[in-house]
Amino acid sequence: MSYERDNIRKLHAYAPGEQPATTKVVKLNTNENPYPPADAVLRAIREVAAESLRRYPPPRADQFRAVAARVHGLSPDQVIATNGGDELLRLMVSVFCNPARGGGLAVAEPSYSLYPVLADIHDTSVARIALREDFSLPDAFAQQVLAAGCRLVMIVNPHAPSGRLEPIDTLRSLAHSLRGEAVLLIDEAYVDFARSDALPLLRDPALDNVVLLRTLSKGYSLAGLRFGYGLGASGVVAALDKARDSYNTDILSQHAAVAALESRDVAALSWNKVIAERTRLTQALRSRRWTVLDSDSNFVLATPEALRQGSSTASTIYAALKSRNIFVRYFDQDRLRDKLRITVGTPEQNDALLAALDEIG
Ligand SMILES: *Cc1c(COP(=O)(O)O)cnc(C)c1O
Repeated sequence: MSYERDNIRKLHAYAPGEQPATTKVVKLNTNENPYPPADAVLRAIREVAAESLRRYPPPRADQFRAVAARVHGLSPDQVIATNGGDELLRLMVSVFCNPARGGGLAVAEPSYSLYPVLADIHDTSVARIALREDFSLPDAFAQQVLAAGCRLVMIVNPHAPSGRLEPIDTLRSLAHSLRGEAVLLIDEAYVDFARSDALPLLRDPALDNVVLLRTLSKGYSLAGLRFGYGLGASGVVAALDKARDSYNTDILSQHAAVAALESRDVAALSWNKVIAERTRLTQALRSRRWTVLDSDSNFVLATPEALRQGSSTASTIYAALKSRNIFVRYFDQDRLRDKLRITVGTPEQNDALLAALDEIG
């Protein structure tokens, strides 16, 4: 006997990247920042007083919202703090999709595989719209979203898993086309490693339907903390705020998140190092005759050359690396089967990867 709803029984749950128990591996599979978080963040966590643990935390993380608003040039009512970026994604589906009336979720394919899982949890339909060969948005994207009656669109920019940056003008015209019909969530999980962001859309008073996702997991080296936030038009942010858990972010993470944003300059040093290594890794792989897409993120999507025996496919290279304790990400799905997604590590980690690839041949 199972008691859960049919859609939960049939659900294919989200499959996260492997998290090996030991730290004695070269871990280039889940896009963590290879550098430690800023000292100021660790200090903020250590200095949390017993009294603030005894009490409930500020429900809306007011101090964090004020800092985030200042850093991004917005007002605090345009900021919502969440338990990781993933909670914001879940909230978006809860608040804007309308399963009873066919108002589903639209996603671009391929992208973050959590999006359709969240829709399935909510018994909401998913329109999967194929990206072009180069992972850019197709011209008719907005029309397809509207034709499917979707109320919410999730895209990731810089795109995962390709690293491609969609130009702001494309995003602006997409948001305008959806206005009045659907909300556009632009997932900027990797924005810290990119040349530009979509913040200008939030300064366009005509756009009341845009939310940007930000997270401290990647750029700020705090994936273990679970803190993310949304930036958006105040109307949509207020709607999201109604549906969150009463105390969705805890006091330790609130203090850490304030310190993280206030010491942004320190995190930015790691972004610059990662960007420099991204260039080096891209060139090193290309010189080994891999095809590597230009990336605005902290990972590269790379296609190994089909090797002599014809046996060295992406999946066998993935396994050969794993047996050497080097973890990269392999997606057994259309358009990605011949590729590996490799997180940019420290120079030493990237060298270890390259040396292993030379050994594997
Ligand atoms: C990492 C990531 C997120 C957010 O992750 P959290 O750790 O929950 O903040 C969102 N979208 C994409 C595409 C990501 O890679």
